Amino acid sequence: MSESITNKQVRLAARPVGLPKQSDWKFTSATVPDLKEGEVLIKSLYLSLDPAMRGWMNEGRSYIRPVAIDEVMRAGGIGKVVASRSPRFAVGDHVAGTLGVQEYWSGPADDREVALHKIDPAAVPLPKYLNALGMPGMTAYFGLLEIGMPRAGETVVVSGAAGAVGQTVGQVAKHKGCRVVGIAGGKEKCDFVVNELGFDACIDYKNESVREGLKKHCPKGVDIYFDNVGGEILDDVLAKLAMKARIVICGAISQYNNTTPVRGPANYMSLLVNRARMEGMVVFDYADRYHVAVAEMSQWMKEGSFRSREDIVQGLEKFPEALLMLFEGKNFGKLVLQVAAE
Ligand code: NAP
Repeated sequence: MSESITNKQVRLAARPVGLPKQSDWKFTSATVPDLKEGEVLIKSLYLSLDPAMRGWMNEGRSYIRPVAIDEVMRAGGIGKVVASRSPRFAVGDHVAGTLGVQEYWSGPADDREVALHKIDPAAVPLPKYLNALGMPGMTAYFGLLEIGMPRAGETVVVSGAAGAVGQTVGQVAKHKGCRVVGIAGGKEKCDFVVNELGFDACIDYKNESVREGLKKHCPKGVDIYFDNVGGEILDDVLAKLAMKARIVICGAISQYNNTTPVRGPANYMSLLVNRARMEGMVVFDYADRYHVAVAEMSQWMKEGSFRSREDIVQGLEKFPEALLMLFEGKNFGKLVLQVAAE
């Protein structure tokens, strides 16, 4: 059956300098090979577009190997099993895994890098498995609870508040009894996190001073800062730390496309003065406990006390321009590329 299927793929053509350009990508087609014993063929439905993709395009040591030139771009995704020679998966199963930016993935069902696992399409809409119940949600949950260690009554500040990780950080913090202040770009995003997600306040960093906003909304200082953006905003929050504050270094999207050196925190002496600490985290370190986070957040979703918003762009060919939305703040919620109808 598989020999007649053509697979459209997006490959890395060049290592970008600054923002990725159309010429950094190459669109190719390949025929899906026949399945060997133990292999499966997955049809991609939704792909996760992540700020981390920018880092994967660079050469050099990181927490994961770089995507090689001419390799299919790495991406998490949700798909449907369309052929199977593995006892682990049956035709019709829905799965999540690192499917790549392509229409089909095929290979050994137990490929460790791809980490295929079944998901239940009846439990929540499929794109949520790329958001709160997927990698960004796991990042938010474990980053906040394990590195941030929130206690009821503490003040949590999160940047990128309307984005995939940020929306979950704020809602988990509310569930743990914290006061939550978001930082996001634009009134619409700020209104969303306060009115629909239940944050206590939100600072619109594009239209108001973050320092003034922190003064107003965090009168006792910031106990936990969940940093998704780095740069100037990190310095602003450092200036407002409470004693024994914890800063979770999750990401620094403001720096990912720099062609000059990364801007480090000038205000780091605030860590000394406030006996505070700053710690990096990588979501994959918590993989053996994802099920704990999925169980708790699914329960909150069922009870109606937890939401997640996705921003879905249609079409594999839109990948290059859709990815840029992340760096321009054009995505409103978790950015997902739909590549086939469910
Ligand atoms: P996202 O927040 O859904 O989308 C990115 C958002 O970043 C944009 O919508 C934009 O929102 C904001 N942004 C872009 N450029 C900015 C700038 N110069 N200054 C301030 N904000 C800017 O993305 P996400 O998937 O949730 O990722 C958020 C962060 O978490 C990223 O840094 C990512 O690399 C990191 N992350 C880390 C891990 C880990 O394991 N450590 C895992 C997943 C994600 P506004 O409109 O509000 O500006």
